[in-house]
Amino acid sequence: CGIVGITGVPDAVSVLVSGLERLEYRGYDSAGIYVNDQSGQDYLVRRVGRIANLKSALTPAIKGITGIGHTRWATHGVPSETNAHPQYSADERFYLVHNGVIDNFEQLKSEYLADVKFQSQTDTEVIVQLVDRFVVDYEMDTRAAFLKVLHLISDDSSYAFVLMDRQTPDTLYVAKNKSPLLIGIGEDFNMVGSDAVAMLKETHTFMEIQDREVVTVQPEGVVIRDFDGNEMKRDTFRVDMDA
Ligand code: GLU
Repeated sequence: CGIVGITGVPDAVSVLVSGLERLEYRGYDSAGIYVNDQSGQDYLVRRVGRIANLKSALTPAIKGITGIGHTRWATHGVPSETNAHPQYSADERFYLVHNGVIDNFEQLKSEYLADVKFQSQTDTEVIVQLVDRFVVDYEMDTRAAFLKVLHLISDDSSYAFVLMDRQTPDTLYVAKNKSPLLIGIGEDFNMVGSDAVAMLKETHTFMEIQDREVVTVQPEGVVIRDFDGNEMKRDTFRVDMDA
C-alpha cells in the first residue's frame, strides 16, 4: 500500500500515477486518484487490481494541479471500487487517502455519524465523513476539524493521511502515526509520499514528519505543527539517488 500527493504542478495526474507505480513493491489490491484543477473541476478515478487498470481509465480530460493517489491493501471491506481510496464525504467536498487501521472507527461512527449513510465498508470513510461533520455542522475550518478528528482517533491506530478539501483546492492536509509518510520539497510545488522513491523524479529534497504531527502542504510552503497546534521547525535533507 502507498500514498502520493502533490500540489502546484501542471500535470498532477502523471506524477501521481508514476509515483504509485514506484510504490507497487509495497503490495496492493486496488488503486485510485483524486485531482482538482483549481478552477472548479475535479476527478475521482478508482480501480480494483493493477495500476495499469487505473491508467486505462484515465482520459486527457482528467487533469489537475493538486491531487492525491493511493494503493490499497484492504483491512476493512473487500477490495472493490467503492472501498478503494480516495474515500470521500457524502457531500463530495472532502477526499481522503489512508494507509493503516483506525481501531476505534466503529465507536466514532456510532457516536458522531449515526445519521450518515455510508458508501463503503472502510474505516477510512468514517474519518472523512467526520471531518465533514465538524466543518459543515460545527462550522470549524478544515485544519481545525482535521486536528479535532486526529485527537479522537485512538493512539493504537495507525495512519498516513492526506486530505483534500474542494474549497481549498491547493492544500494537502497531512498527518501520520505509525505509518510512513515523507514530505518532498520543490521549487514551486510541494509533495508527500510513503517513500522517497515515489518522489525522486520531482525532487531530491525531503522533510521528515514525526508521528502525531499535522502538516499543511501548499505550493508555496509547508507548515508542520504538533497536535497542540505549535509550529515545529524542521530541517530538510537530500537524497542523492536517481529516479
Ligand atoms: N484500512 C484502510 C482500508 O481498508 C486502509 C488500508 C491500507 O492501508 O491500504 O481501506
